[in-house]
Amino acid sequence: MYVANEERYDKMMYRQVGKSGLKLPAISLGFWHNFGDVDNLENQREIMHTAFDNGITHFDLANNYGPPAGSAETNFGRLFKEDFKAYRDEIIISSKAGYYMWPGPYGEWGSKKSLVASCDQSLKRMGLDYVDIFYHHRPDSNTPIEETAHTLDLLVKQGKALYIGVSNYSPEETAKISKLFKDWHTPFIIHQPAYNMFNRSIEDGLTEVLEEERLGAIVFSPLAQGLLTDRYLNGIPEDSRAHRTDSPFLSEDRVEPTLDTVRKLNEMAKKRNQTLAEMALAWNLRQPVVSSVLIGASRVSQLEANLKALYNLDFTTEELAEIDRILES
Ligand code: NDP
Repeated sequence: MYVANEERYDKMMYRQVGKSGLKLPAISLGFWHNFGDVDNLENQREIMHTAFDNGITHFDLANNYGPPAGSAETNFGRLFKEDFKAYRDEIIISSKAGYYMWPGPYGEWGSKKSLVASCDQSLKRMGLDYVDIFYHHRPDSNTPIEETAHTLDLLVKQGKALYIGVSNYSPEETAKISKLFKDWHTPFIIHQPAYNMFNRSIEDGLTEVLEEERLGAIVFSPLAQGLLTDRYLNGIPEDSRAHRTDSPFLSEDRVEPTLDTVRKLNEMAKKRNQTLAEMALAWNLRQPVVSSVLIGASRVSQLEANLKALYNLDFTTEELAEIDRILES
């Protein structure tokens, strides 16, 4: 029987999500990859144990995570039931709907029909009464934003979600839905955008909107799916995301063009007595609006290595300028 480490809260840092009462661990664990039926269940169990034992109190899922779609929630549900049930009130579980999940006009996007059905399916797969955060996974220009917002508000009123978030929304879309939620007193607290040294688009307006609206951000792919680590410095490993054919999201040809920059960043991280992965996570956390960095890990050792980022989160102005120079070169 799994018994959580008694010292699990000693080292993790918890950051307020916007102006809400919710705190998230500075590092959260995502289930997009590594938790599908194509992945080893016992490895999944070990990753979850290591995460929770180190104070990672937040697990992020979505209806379509796998592969096959849905299997990450099913596997999570099984492991949660077997090992984590006693800790439910210590864990923040999120899910999302919006990307393609089932055929026909109701299996994706943002209609009331789609979101209600998907949320019910997710709760069933995970064996939960409610999720802590439910996200609209991507904006839908064919559904009135009022309908999507109303449905998310309804899910809170029905007790199926405690808090609401959006993901991949532009600054304008975020401001628009935030106004609706404010009028209705919906607990909309968080945005989930991509953010890493290679993708700084949130700096073009989104961070300002989040500050104005008093929302927090949990940023996904902070390691650019592994590119911002030493994973590819000596070739493309057989078991890496770039090589695996069951993951179409990072192809081998995207690795080589980044290597020159990655090597320079790696040298800089060494000067800071950090690994590149640690520096990349710390760099994301320097943004006050970022409540948490949402990492993936295919093995326990990666998770343990990434937790060390918390030992050095500070950057001098010169270091930040040097990173900008490397990224622009
Ligand atoms: P990361 O950028 O953290 O990439 C994780 C991958 O990087 C790992 O699977 C592993 O790849 C590699 N890696 C991690 N740590 C190390 C290390 N220390 N050394 C070497 N390699 C390492 O995040 P993800 O892209 O996985 O995304 C994280 C989460 O964000 C997802 O699980 C999901 O919850 C969320 N997300 C949300 C999206 C949205 O639209 N809202 C979209 C995408 C993600 P390898 O397999 O090669 O070992």
